[in-house]
Amino acid sequence: MMNKRSVADLALFGAAPLFDVPKSTSNLVQPAFERFLSYACPGLEAPGAVTKLFEARLAQFHDVEYCVSFCSGFWALAVTMVALARPGRHEVVMPSLTYRRMADVVAWTGLLPRFCEVDPHTLAISAETASECIGDDTALLLGVHPIVNCCDVDGLIELASRHDVPLMFDAVESVYETVEGGKIGRFGAAEVFSLHASKLLNGFEGGYVTTRDASLAAKLAALRDGATVARGAIDARLDDTHAAMALANLDDLDAQVERNRSRYLRYREMLPTVPGIRLLSFDESHATSYKNIVVELMDDWPLPRSLTIDILNAERILARAYYWPALHSKPMTYPHVPADLPQTVRLSERFALLPCGDFVTLDDVDACIALLSFVRRHATDVLAHAASTKEVA
Ligand SMILES: *Cc1c(COP(=O)(O)O)cnc(C)c1O
Repeated sequence: MMNKRSVADLALFGAAPLFDVPKSTSNLVQPAFERFLSYACPGLEAPGAVTKLFEARLAQFHDVEYCVSFCSGFWALAVTMVALARPGRHEVVMPSLTYRRMADVVAWTGLLPRFCEVDPHTLAISAETASECIGDDTALLLGVHPIVNCCDVDGLIELASRHDVPLMFDAVESVYETVEGGKIGRFGAAEVFSLHASKLLNGFEGGYVTTRDASLAAKLAALRDGATVARGAIDARLDDTHAAMALANLDDLDAQVERNRSRYLRYREMLPTVPGIRLLSFDESHATSYKNIVVELMDDWPLPRSLTIDILNAERILARAYYWPALHSKPMTYPHVPADLPQTVRLSERFALLPCGDFVTLDDVDACIALLSFVRRHATDVLAHAASTKEVA
């Protein structure tokens, strides 16, 4: 538990860290080993069978006709973009406050990232923010769900159909979510998911695409399996062992979400005791995974976000900035449409992720919050100490 009395007790200033084992913001959930083996072993005799089962189970889970598995979310995104982009056009309209490699994916396809603002309430691309960037050269609209809750699915569908451009979703952060129209996985031309160990459904690593369109599913599978495109052929198949891991975790998913919920409820109960930090709340009127803990450092939070994160990291609390820096503000060596997005820049400096996932206990949550409370109460001292240690260095 928290045993710090003065700022000299902070690990950033040389004291022992609060935790022996790092507390991650990744999920890292592990299935029962026997269950993993029960899926993996039959696969040794019939290569590809586990992956086929995985695709059938995930199509069922998302209430959709087709699921195409991939070796990663990254390649699932890239291949889906290639399959969907309107020929002869060049721009992919996408948010800048998002997954750090999203522009790299677009660049690989040979298309141009065209960054748009996000809605300050959802932190996501919306019909309003995207519409300012849609034009005659729009090849594709890329809706991306934010880390907490979903983007405006209906608005983006309406916008895409009004401008007659294809719409796909990055739904990596919304595996478990539903919206008014049903389960995430059913919307747009296709939706993309990841099985990375840090995400809700852990398959070690991997990805998949859901779609209701038979010919798109066939095209995605062909591209995945080595059909040649302008950028060259790739082999982006999911490994059977990874499919087995994901299947074993899928069986446990509802229980996992219950565990996530208890951590979230603890944050929701205790964080209000620390002024200046606001927890982003999950929309409980629909299914939600309660996975990530995102907080906003409000104007009255007394420390810079970077220093706050440095303090937590030194204690082995692996807190991180939420999607920072914004993609459009990073140096880019590949062609893109330059953008000036003040709202995105402002938002990219306010939010942080706190520990979550299967290796974080309720006591750990209490200790993190106690530490934040301590830092807040001693903010003046912390700033002075940080300034003087900087001078010495
Ligand atoms: C992690 C992530 C990806 C990429 O998935 P990988 O399987 O790691 O390649 C794509 N989009 C978002 C929003 C992500 O968080």
